[in-house]
Parts: sequence; structure tokens; C-alpha cells
Amino acid sequence: MKKITSVLSAIILAGFVISAHAQDRNLLANAMRVTGDKFTVAVKTPKGANVYAVTRPSATVLKTIDKGLTDLFAVSRKNGYFKRLNYTDYSIFIGKADRTKDSAGQYSPDIAIAANQYAGSVFDQGGFIYAAGLVISNDPCAFVIAEHTRDFDRISNVVRYEGEHLVLYHNDRKRYAATADHSKGGFHPILQ
Ligand SMILES: [Zn+2]
Repeated sequence: MKKITSVLSAIILAGFVISAHAQDRNLLANAMRVTGDKFTVAVKTPKGANVYAVTRPSATVLKTIDKGLTDLFAVSRKNGYFKRLNYTDYSIFIGKADRTKDSAGQYSPDIAIAANQYAGSVFDQGGFIYAAGLVISNDPCAFVIAEHTRDFDRISNVVRYEGEHLVLYHNDRKRYAATADHSKGGFHPILQ
């Protein structure tokens, strides 16, 4: 009986995992396509945000992600935006940094992404651009950031900044459209 129960619960658990992760699979595929990374680690922050990573993030990194979301939610409320202000609404992918220093030599772990709308703009580095973060899905709310080994405060900022696009998408579509593409302006922080 014990064996049957455990097999049954394993089947139920497997079913749950598959359905709960059907949406995540699209996200994962998208994150992989954008970064070229394999996200084999899935964890939650202390406040419940979903984190997918290449290597297991430290407790400090997870806390810093929560701090960025806390800042985002506070400034969003200040602006009268109340949708998608739960930690569990957010999935953060931590990809491998494609560079760790910016052109000024400052520590700046960034990911390289296809230039697309940035082609020919000041952001264009020859078919790709370096970004601190990138929204990969508006609904569910998900974005990619680069792995940091220090300067963890920067993570809070990147989380807050990428989150701004998502909060705007769900609360103020007009303002979202005006600020989503940085080759046309709309620099961070957007929400003051
Ligand atoms: Zn942005």
C-alpha cells in the first residue's frame, strides 16, 4: 500500500510538474534562445519570485533580487500602478555574462542580444547589443539578467529596471509603448 501510494503521488506530482511547467517551458526555450544558456537550476527567492539560473545563485543574490522587486513595487504604487505587484508574478533568468566590463572598463556583467530594433543605433555593437537585462515575456512576467560575482546592488537596479517595463505593460499600455524601445528613448528609471 505504501508503495502504491508513493507511486501514485509520484504520478500526481509528475502531472502537476508538467502542467505547472508547460508555460515555463516556453519561457525556458525563449530564455535559452536569447542567451544561448541552459537554465538547469530553479529556485525561489525568500519572497517567492521564481529564479532560473545556469549555476545556483547565492542567498545574497536572491535577497538582492527581492530588494529590486520591493523597490519596483514601491515606486509602482507611488505611480498608481497596482497590477502584478506580487513577487510570485515574476520569473528572473540569470544567464552567463557575455562581458563583465563596459566600454569604460567598469564592472558591468551584461548579456549580448541580437540588435533587431537597435541596428544602426548607438547601442549597436555589430549585429548585437550588450544589455544589463532583457524582458523575454510580458505575460507571464519574465526577464533575463547576467550573472554577477560582485557589485550585487547592481542586480537590484537591473531587476527594478526590467520590472518597470512589465509593470507598465500591465498597468499603462501607452506609457509602456513609449518607453519599451530604448533606441527611441525612455531610459531607466522610468518610474520616479
Ligand atoms: Zn529597459
